[in-house]
Amino acid sequence: MTEVDKMICRACGNEERASEGYPCDGCETFICVVCNLRGVTHCKACQDKGEGAAPPGPGT
Ligand SMILES: [Zn+2]
Ligand SMILES: [Zn+2]
Repeated sequence: MTEVDKMICRACGNEERASEGYPCDGCETFICVVCNLRGVTHCKACQDKGEGAAPPGPGT
């Protein structure tokens, strides 16, 4: 038996099971199921580029 297939989530940095994750809507890199449940559909790199991220409000 090999170890379970794990990948680093590109949104939160946690190591999660690849089989339970989802692809980033922007670049299709790995996003873990925890982030997906929180509504995160883009990796950190795509969020930095402004994809899927809320526009910065005047309060921030
Ligand atoms: Zn994550
Ligand atoms: Zn991405």
